[in-house]
Amino acid sequence: MDTGLMQAAWRREIARIIALLLVFGLAGGLLGHVWAGLVIALAICLALQLRMLRWLSRWVVHPKRVDLPDPTGVWGEVFEQLLEMQKRNRKRKKRLAAIVAEFQSSTAALPDGAVVMSSRGEIVWFNSSAQILLGLRSPQDVGQRIANLVRHPSFANYLAVEQFESDVELISPINEHVTLAMRIIPYGEGQRLLIVRDVSEHRRLEVMRRDFVSNASHELRTPLTVLRGYLDMMEPDTRGKGALLEWKAPIGEMRAQATRMESLITDLLKLARLESDSSVARQELIDVPHLLHRIAEDTRRLSPDRHTVEAAIEADIKLLGRDSEFHSLCQNLLQNAIQYSPDGGAVRLRWWGDEDGAHLSVADSGLGIDEADIPRLTERFYRVDVARSRSRGGTGLGLAIVKHALEHHEARLEIISQPGIGSTFICHFPAHRVQRAQPMVVNG
Ligand code: ADP
Repeated sequence: MDTGLMQAAWRREIARIIALLLVFGLAGGLLGHVWAGLVIALAICLALQLRMLRWLSRWVVHPKRVDLPDPTGVWGEVFEQLLEMQKRNRKRKKRLAAIVAEFQSSTAALPDGAVVMSSRGEIVWFNSSAQILLGLRSPQDVGQRIANLVRHPSFANYLAVEQFESDVELISPINEHVTLAMRIIPYGEGQRLLIVRDVSEHRRLEVMRRDFVSNASHELRTPLTVLRGYLDMMEPDTRGKGALLEWKAPIGEMRAQATRMESLITDLLKLARLESDSSVARQELIDVPHLLHRIAEDTRRLSPDRHTVEAAIEADIKLLGRDSEFHSLCQNLLQNAIQYSPDGGAVRLRWWGDEDGAHLSVADSGLGIDEADIPRLTERFYRVDVARSRSRGGTGLGLAIVKHALEHHEARLEIISQPGIGSTFICHFPAHRVQRAQPMVVNG
């Protein structure tokens, strides 16, 4: 507001009132009623002010219907400033409306569904993809709670747990052939943006890839068994006699390679089975202490002189999960510890529980792993040293199997390693899967 103009207006206003008072005062004085003249002057002033106030109050209520007068003086300045403000607000509103319209048309064109939700989980706005993917109806569903419209246990759990760093996947509420990946992005003061993607094609390709690997492995198994059978028959006898004596070395090599292929096929099938079953492991009670003692004993038998296997197993801790998967992951970790340790090395197996859950650790005093390789170890066919892995009968799939088996048990793998000193693989199982009896430590 221009203060100079306003001050001039005030001066004019006061001068006008004084002039009015003087004129009426003088006129009253001439007629012998000075006070009456002054009272009339003040009454005129008051009436003028009240008229302006009435105009203003009507304009405030109906700014579009009532035009502001164009008086001079203070009121003139006030009305002019009000009109200026109104114009500015209109412009700002237009600009905001254009931004909102642009945002809405750009998000409406998105192939992903977008739903804006209030802090109480009520729908504020959604685009047309959200209508198609979730079956939301406009405008009936605006104001409804999203949890009432998308009724799915995993989505309800996702909303309750409020861990929005990852997606939640579910079958579309309107089409059972469509798989949706949903993600909530919190913003502002408790508001949330829900992004919905159709991942059916992605999942279909994944299933196709899995089925292909599994079918190919099955198909390879039969011819390999035949080849293996003939190779066994062709092996020259132990006394060094037989027509194929000069073929002894090549046949031995062929049998070794056939064994390697068999292990590869077995591991590929195991992995395909683990992958195809994405559900969290069933709640069977695994007698982990018994199982670990058995695996440790088997390992000692297979590597009697070359390695020592120590086991510290808390006998009272059992786990809810899947026996075969737990067995497979322990066996893989122990086999690796033996494979990647020099002769005479010690392998330590530990199973214990605490307030965070239960933990399985397999430590060796072997080759160790470079820090840069650690994050990639659970990738399929990733080997630090391919030749060494192959020469020791490794398939490159062991830790991928461990990773999947752990995922089924909501567990995570921690790898601590130092080249030349040794490695420790620790599996952390959550507390809700642990069952305890009386505490007791058994060393064996
Ligand atoms: P592989 O069949 O080759 O052992 P894995 O998936 O079991 O395949 O392991 C992947 C790679 O991780 C191995 O090739 C090896 O380089 C490394 N590795 C696994 N366990 C150990 C260990 N205990 N010590 C050193 N390196 C290991």
